[in-house]
Order: sequence, then structure tokens, then C-alpha cells
Amino acid sequence: MKSQRAAPNPERLLDTAVTYLTGVGPARADALRRLGIFTARDLFMHIPHRYEDASTVSQIAKLRIGDDATVIGSVISKGVIPTRKGLRVFQAVVQDSSGLIEASWPGQPFLDRAIKKGDLLLLTGPVRFFHGRVLAPREFVNLGPEDAATGTSGGRVLSVYPATEGFSFKQMRTLIDKHLDQYLPHFQEYIPRELLALAGVPALPEALRAVHRPRTLAEAHAGRARLAFEELLCVHILQLRAKALAREARAGITFENKRVLTSKLKSLLPFELTGAQMRATREIVKDMTGPQRMHRLLQGDVGSGKTIVALFAALLAVENDYQAAVMAPTELLAEQHMRTFTKLLAPLGITPLLITGSLAAKERKAAAARIASAEPVIAVGTHALAQEGTKFAKLGLAVVDEQHRFGVGQRLALGKKGERPDVLLMSATPIPRSLALTLYGDLDVSVLDERPPGRQPVTTVRRSEKGRAKVYSFIDAQVEKGRQAYVVFPLIDESDKSAMRAATKEFEELRTGRFASRRVALLHGRLEAEEKDDTMRRFRDGEIDILISTTVIEVGIDVANATVMVIEHPERFGLSQLHQLRGRVGRGAEESFCILLGDVSPEVAERLEIFVGTDDGFEIAEADLRMRGMGDLFGERQSGEPTFRVADPIRDHELGEVARAGAAQLLAADPGLTSKANKPLHDVLRKRYGRALELFRVG
Ligand code: ADP
Ligand code: MG
Repeated sequence: MKSQRAAPNPERLLDTAVTYLTGVGPARADALRRLGIFTARDLFMHIPHRYEDASTVSQIAKLRIGDDATVIGSVISKGVIPTRKGLRVFQAVVQDSSGLIEASWPGQPFLDRAIKKGDLLLLTGPVRFFHGRVLAPREFVNLGPEDAATGTSGGRVLSVYPATEGFSFKQMRTLIDKHLDQYLPHFQEYIPRELLALAGVPALPEALRAVHRPRTLAEAHAGRARLAFEELLCVHILQLRAKALAREARAGITFENKRVLTSKLKSLLPFELTGAQMRATREIVKDMTGPQRMHRLLQGDVGSGKTIVALFAALLAVENDYQAAVMAPTELLAEQHMRTFTKLLAPLGITPLLITGSLAAKERKAAAARIASAEPVIAVGTHALAQEGTKFAKLGLAVVDEQHRFGVGQRLALGKKGERPDVLLMSATPIPRSLALTLYGDLDVSVLDERPPGRQPVTTVRRSEKGRAKVYSFIDAQVEKGRQAYVVFPLIDESDKSAMRAATKEFEELRTGRFASRRVALLHGRLEAEEKDDTMRRFRDGEIDILISTTVIEVGIDVANATVMVIEHPERFGLSQLHQLRGRVGRGAEESFCILLGDVSPEVAERLEIFVGTDDGFEIAEADLRMRGMGDLFGERQSGEPTFRVADPIRDHELGEVARAGAAQLLAADPGLTSKANKPLHDVLRKRYGRALELFRVG
């Protein structure tokens, strides 16, 4: 304490408000604020995001027709040239140390004002032939007049910063450069040296120097890696710690593995469990027979057979005289589970119980009476299970199917019933394992990465608009054979009515035209839940041949007789979404087909080919993540998810593994991070993630 007063914390200076820095007036301070930059520390943590472009910078002399290239060069001449067709073209000749090339912007004469002779340009685009080589910039960045601060033409690495209105990245670079020397010595490393060594990254001050003023690209990457490592390490520490705390606080029921009902079910199953199902079941049994409360996520691609795994868990509870609840997001899915369970449990003399909002008062009362008695029953239902009025006498297991469809509140409400029941969450959103650990670090995860045998992969093809008539003939032929088909239109968001209109229009056309002799129905989000369920039921029961729909078809729906999935405007879907849609067919013994219909651009075609080429949901999810980022995979950001500013959990996967191992090592030696050596890190965690720590709290 005393020593602190004697030598004021040198980091204090880093808390200086940016407004006090020379070169920052009120307008600029506003702009910085928009970037989340309030203090000097924030400013230096605002790191370049453009090394990638710089890393692929080509020498102008080496550009060939047909290349798609990024170059940096200074403008040696420029001007606006009218073409015969009346189009005005801005042209500039740019030069680097190797040579020069003409860049051409048709229809953009106004660039003549924005780009000056002597400006350094970063240009990206294809190289075309037009009286010689011409670069057609798809994108360009004006780095401003070539001077000492920007100098890059000598082959040095360019730092390009995220900018905002009122603050160009060049101004940003100048500002950071101006103050870097003064502030850098005040940054102190707080990650233990051994961990930095483990990850092979430099200490903080050197890392910041390297990201802002790299001499080589490798240096810049190493510096960035230090910052990414810090984020990954912090998140893993938080999660491991949360997990450990949750375990302590998670005293639960200790079930006994009696192997009475579970063994019986196993011997009576009409199929063999897959290796993955057996592994997941073992993991669940281990959790349930342990003294701690189970908190496990069962993750598996559509059709991987999660339901049966849940049933084994439910039977383990029941043979211990406890009740089990299986909650599904819709009545339809609840009914589907009910039917599956009823069939499989009949030989065991067990009758499951259905609890949904649409039960008649009398039935509901009877159901309530059964669960309020101590009868070890398996209750299947919707969120009605989690409602206050639903009282379990002895709930030992709570299963939440399609868990991401429920709010945190609903999940918690079910988990709060009974005697601290074990909790099993299930999800079909295929999340790469590395990411699952990062996002759901406070959960244990089991993965079903194997398909039930005999399931043929769905034959997936792309067909252009020209092939539409043939696709319809194909649908017709399948229907003739007694099969059923889905035709799906994209729905961008709830308020998007155009998709609904498209589906409705198509429905009217097909119903009265091409498929007049078939039973065609329409399903979209604007219909009442009851009507939706009713249509789905009729489809399930084979009363509808062709279902025209927006994306509201349930993820978990299991109609074995549906063999065709036609997807209109496939370019509007993420690959994972397409994969989820494809999962609605291929659930029976017959060969199934997924047809992406319509004309798409070459780039989109390339993306779609990834989907056509594999039926591995995890592979598809990884590809999706690489191309579109995390947001699309989940539809929305999950609250409480720690965000990364520098790290990319997929790209930095290996670094993440090191961070995870490092975090485990650190906590094993010092669980509360209370030692003197770990105090700086502890303080940073507290300060930065105080709120996240709250969110991580379980129970
Ligand atoms: P999901 O994981 O998408 O919820 P389900 O549990 O609905 O998948 O299972 C899909 C279908 O596969 C069901 O009809 C189920 O009976 C069947 N199934 C599950 N496990 C196996 C298995 N090991 N062998 C054969 N069929 C299986
Ligand atoms: Mg399911």
C-alpha cells in the first residue's frame, strides 16, 4: 500500500482523457468517442485492421492481366477523360518502386477533387486489358500525400486504422504516432511471463510498438497476437473460473445407474445407437450419477439423433424415482417427441405425459395432478412446463430441446423447478467445438458428430432459372411416387413481407397451374401459430404433397416421407441456414434431394458450392464463420457473450488452445488469482470484465 502512495501508478497517465492530447479538439474528441476511444489507453488499443491488405501488396511491375491485386503507389499524373459514350472517367497513373500502372474509375469524375498528384493510394481490384494494363479499383484508400509519416513505398508495412466520420485513418495514424513514444513506457505487462513465452508473443509495450509501427509484417502479426492472446486468455480464465464456481455451487442429485429401464430400452430399440450417441449418453450418465448438478449442452447436427439420448437421460431419472421434463419450442415438436417417446416406452410400461398450452382444462388438470404427485413421470411439452402454475413434486432432470429458441428466463425457470434438477440443453445449430467452448464455456459439451447408419446423404444440386421447368417435373415425379416436397423462400427478418408475398404468389401460381392436380399448401410467419401447426400436421400426415413456405418450417421436424427440398434465392441464406433446411429431408430410407434454384453471381455460386460439396454441418459452420462472421450463425448476439476486439476465435484457434491451457495452468496453481504475481492480471480482469463476471454467475 505504502509503496503505491510513494510511486503513483504509472498506468494512471494512460487514463488521461483524449481531449487533453495535443491534436485533439472538441470535434475530434467526438469522433474518437464514436470509436469507443476515451482515454490515451483506448487510443493505443485502437489497432490497425489492415495488415492483411498490406501483406498482399503486389509490385506494380509484376501485375498481369486477370490478376486481382492490391497495390500501393503514388499518383504521378491524373485527369478526367470523356469517352465517346459520354461517360466521364477518372484516371490516375500510380507508381511504386517497381513500375507504374494506370487506374481507371468510369463514371466517377468527382474523384478528381479527392485525389491529388503525389497522394499515396492503396488500390484493390482486377487488372484488365485496355490499351495495356489497367487496374479497375473495386476499393481504394487515399493514404494522403506521401511523406515521412506515411512512407510505405520503400516496402515498409502500412498501418491502416478503423476510421470514422470526422477522423480519417490517416489523421488517426498521425495522432497515434505523435504520442506513441511518450505513452508506450507507461504500459505494463500484466500477463505472467511464462504464459507469454508459452504463446510465443512479445510483452505489451513491445506488442503495441509492433502493431502501430511495424518494421515487418511478421512483427505486426506478433504484436497483434499478444493482444489477441490477452483477450482469449481472459475469456478462458473467466470461463474456467465460472465453471469451477458453478461446480461448487452446483450440488445436485446423485442418481444411481441402476441399468433397469435404460438397459431395457437399449435392448428394445429398433436400431443400434451410433458411437456418438453412446459416447454422449455415457457422458450424461457420468454427470447425473455424480454429486454435482449436470449442466451439459448436447450438440448435434439435424438428424443426428439427440432425442433418443435425452430419453436415456430421462429414464435414468425415472428409475431413480425422479421426474423428467423435456421442453420443446413448439407444440408440434412437443407432439413429435410425445409420439416418439410413447412408441419407444410402451414395451417398458411407461406412458409419457404431454403438457402444452392448448390442452383442454380437464386434461391439463389431470396432467397437473400427476406431476404434483411424486409419480416418476416423463413430461413432454412446451414452455407450459416452465410456467409458474406447473408444479413438479420431484423433478430430477430438465431437458431443453432447441435451446437457442428459448430465452434465458425460460431455461432458468425450468431449471428452478423441483430439487435442483440436472439440466441438459440440446441444439442443432452446429457450432465448431472450439467456438462452443468459447461461447458456452460454463457448460460441458457433448457432440453427436455421427449420423445414424443407413441414412443416405442428401443429393444436393444447383439449378439455374432455365432449369426451373425440369425441377418442377422432378418434384412432380417424386410426388407421383408418393413422396412430398418443400419449396422454401427466404425470409430476411420478421418485417420482411416481400418473402411472404413471393411465397404467396408462387403458391397461387403453382396451385392453380403446374401442380393443379397436387395438394399444395402455404406456410408463412404471418399465419396464426395454430394454423401453422395444423398445416405442418397435415404435411406430416401425408395430406399435403407440396409445401410452399418461408423459413418457418421447424428445425426439428421429422417427416421421413419428404424427399425434396427446393430452395429459392439460395443466395439470401447463410450456408448454415441452408444446411438446416436441407436437414428437413433425408430423414427416411428413400434418397432425398436438395435443389438450390435460381441464377446467382459467380461469387455466390462459389460460396454455394461449399454447401453442395459437403454434408458435414460443422465444416459448413466453419466456412460460414470464416465468410460471414459469428452474427449470422446465431441470428442474434447472445447476451453476456464476451466480445473480442482483436481476437478471432476461428482464425486464432491455435492461440486459443494455448490460452485455454495457460488459463488452466494458472488457475490450477492459484484458483483465485490472489498471489502477488497474479495480482496485476486479477486487477485487469476485475476492471474489464466485472459485468461479464456477473453474467457468468450460475444459480
Ligand atoms: P435430432 O438430433 O435432429 O433431434 P432426432 O432425434 O429427431 O434428430 O432423430 C432423427 C431420426 O433419426 C429419428 O427418426 C430417429 O428415430 C432416428 N434415429 C436416431 N438415432 C438413430 C440410430 N442410431 N439409428 C437409426 N435411426 C436413428
Ligand atoms: Mg430434435
